[in-house]
Amino acid sequence: MKLPDKIANILDRLEARGYEAWVVGGCVRDSLLGIVPHDYDICTSALPQQTQEVFSDFALVLAGVKHGTVGVIVDGEVVEITTFRTEGGYCDSRHPGWVQFVPGIREDLARRDFTINAMAWSPIRGYADPFGGGADLKHHVLRAVGDPARRFEEDALRILRGIRFAARFHLEPEPKTEQAMLAQRGHLDDIARERVMEELTQFLCLADTQDLLRWAQVIAQVAAPLRDAIGFEQHSPHHAYDVFTHTAYVTAALPKDPVMRWAGLLHDVAKPACFTMDDTGRGHFVGHAQVGAEMANGILTTLRAPKAMCEEVSWLIEHHMVFYPAEEKTARRLLSRHGKDRMERLLTLQMADWGGKGLPVDEDIPNALTELWNQLEDLSEREGAMSLKTLAVDGHDLMALGYPQNPNLGSTLQRLLNLVVNGSLPNEKQPLLHQAENWLKEMV
Ligand code: ATP
Ligand code: MG
Repeated sequence: MKLPDKIANILDRLEARGYEAWVVGGCVRDSLLGIVPHDYDICTSALPQQTQEVFSDFALVLAGVKHGTVGVIVDGEVVEITTFRTEGGYCDSRHPGWVQFVPGIREDLARRDFTINAMAWSPIRGYADPFGGGADLKHHVLRAVGDPARRFEEDALRILRGIRFAARFHLEPEPKTEQAMLAQRGHLDDIARERVMEELTQFLCLADTQDLLRWAQVIAQVAAPLRDAIGFEQHSPHHAYDVFTHTAYVTAALPKDPVMRWAGLLHDVAKPACFTMDDTGRGHFVGHAQVGAEMANGILTTLRAPKAMCEEVSWLIEHHMVFYPAEEKTARRLLSRHGKDRMERLLTLQMADWGGKGLPVDEDIPNALTELWNQLEDLSEREGAMSLKTLAVDGHDLMALGYPQNPNLGSTLQRLLNLVVNGSLPNEKQPLLHQAENWLKEMV
């Protein structure tokens, strides 16, 4: 494993003073996978007080000392050095209820969540891998350290970390670990909503269809109304899949962006609640977009998602069944009312929705979606290029008509530009001057 100089220097300095020092956790895992770690955590036998003495000539961050962590600022970045410790008394906070310092690396690794995250490395000591994380990584196995049921019970956030790592590194959960993740999922209700939101969002942005299907019960533990969608038969000639399976296909087809992935996950959340069956045995879901928008807003608000995100996801869901005609007039109106980004998000969701039915589909709707998309692109490109500079008339033209030279001149030009942008007038001198002349007459 190759360490950046500044990390190697920190390890050297601790070792030179007689303490054990290792890099640990995510950085060891990532290096073994050939991924450049985004940060390096260090653990040591030195007590926090001793670490402070060793680095007394550095600026230090001492906010985490109670939990054994001393931050050393090197080249403007904080490197965290944590004393070997065990911990417990987990509650819904970011930190365990208590920590206890322990003498050796093995005990420190034993408190970690998964074997792949429970490895340490030192340039002079080599690897410490008492739980077989290296082999598990090689064989793509997700395995809890110690007794899985106990480990997920003491901190259920590990279940969400687990599904995230499984999706990210394509790991197969070892049977007892998988069983415990599912069995202990009720404890997720005790975890702070912000943390649940953060983890599940990261998972959603990594997950493919199979990940979503495999962990449906865990996802539905967090977004409870989705429980009813799992296995919900649609009784529709347009759908091969039950509601949740369709949801998984749609979500996985969307860009890896939090708003899009949440919109995909929740777009049909109201289908079970809105289900009716007609005399022919066919299912209908009248109003599911509107009801779903409200449910999604409720779910995300409970999870303390940012307000803008709640609003955007719920707007997308509310409109996901609205198919606008691919006409320039409509495109212009949508663009000025909602903007290009939002419209493209909606069309992206609608295309994925259409593609996630599991049946060959009539191409009319997808074609119309693509056509509207192209129109929005063209239009915004043309209008993006439009500005007062490219307007066919300028201040001199207006003064020649008799406009006085004052700030009113600028606002008149802006009014003319608006008319060009919304398509009411062409960007040509004659019609624009004619309009300006009419306004001038109204003014006197
Ligand atoms: P990432 O690449 O997402 O940062 P990571 O494994 O480094 O992955 P961190 O949250 O940075 O994750 O945590 C660092 C290490 O601390 C982990 O590798 C793991 O050993 C340990 N750890 C973190 N959270 C927990 C937890 N909830 N329970 C047990 N161990 C944990
Ligand atoms: Mg990390």
